[in-house]
Amino acid sequence: MERREFVALICAFPALCAKKLPINILRQEHYVMTVNGKVSLSELGGALPHEHFITDFSGAGSENHPEYTELQALDLLLPHLKAVRDLGIQTIFECSPSYIGKNVKLLRKLSTLSGLNIITNTGYYAAVNQKYLPDHAYTESTVKLAERWISEYVNGIERSKIRPGFIKLGSDNAPLKEVEIKLIEAAAITHLKTGLKIAIHTGNAEAAVQELKILEKMGVKPSAFIWVHAQNDQTGETQIRLAKKGCWISLDGLNSTENSLNKYEKNIMKFKATGLLNRLLISHDDGFAAVKKDGQSGFIPYQNGNTLPYVTLFTKLKPALLKNGLTEKEFDLLTVTNPASAFRIDKR
Ligand SMILES: [Zn+2]
Repeated sequence: MERREFVALICAFPALCAKKLPINILRQEHYVMTVNGKVSLSELGGALPHEHFITDFSGAGSENHPEYTELQALDLLLPHLKAVRDLGIQTIFECSPSYIGKNVKLLRKLSTLSGLNIITNTGYYAAVNQKYLPDHAYTESTVKLAERWISEYVNGIERSKIRPGFIKLGSDNAPLKEVEIKLIEAAAITHLKTGLKIAIHTGNAEAAVQELKILEKMGVKPSAFIWVHAQNDQTGETQIRLAKKGCWISLDGLNSTENSLNKYEKNIMKFKATGLLNRLLISHDDGFAAVKKDGQSGFIPYQNGNTLPYVTLFTKLKPALLKNGLTEKEFDLLTVTNPASAFRIDKR
């Protein structure tokens, strides 16, 4: 398609036209991999880069996993996803990893029924004292683990044909343990082969510095690393330092309490003042936990400060930011351009 025709096409949809993306990231060879296949960057629109739908925290070795039907999950989630769509958000990155309840078939159904782009992940989560690691994470080599994840990208997850759109890992505080380092190296190999970006749930700022070092040593560019939960950086100095190197700084625990709104506003304005807004991602880390008690399964909202999941960024933080000097264009940079740049897969 000619660029002229393409612009005409997106301008037929006011929401897309209003949020024009810079030409360099509109190039057709870049895309994001959703649970329904490739989506061009211009179709992503407003995006939430770190959320969950249904998680299962019972652990990789648990024999007591909660059970739920697809209908129960749809009843729970679709009204919230509709509310998200009504705010003009078009894309959600679902960050629940393997062995914490990742359910890719449910994600595809939710995407189809809600009209949202939904992206899932590959990789293993070693945080919380490795409670969610399968035994083979310890016994298999780095290359073998990378091969598993590359195979998910090439062939689909669990024979579903649904492909991951990024690599999701988890690490506790520094110094990183041997298995955490091995998984980061496996992620580096997977990235170099597939182009999938690497998002790491990270305990503290020192761990983020160590993660970047490992990745760079493996030949991965800083821009392929998304530091998840960067709000854990007590001083914020490491955020700035790693952003200057090109890493993505994901502030993804926003909630609707005054304390959280003030903190996020301050943090974002600091990035504006340092000219680094183009390295920032904002999200809520909202979701629901499937639980089993006395033989009965059910869902519990995380409720880490948000009464309604997934919407505070647009309903509460946006007006506060605009009142305090952030422009609409800068807000679009944070919520439209940055997620597309961070998770885009460059053709190999
Ligand atoms: Zn999360």
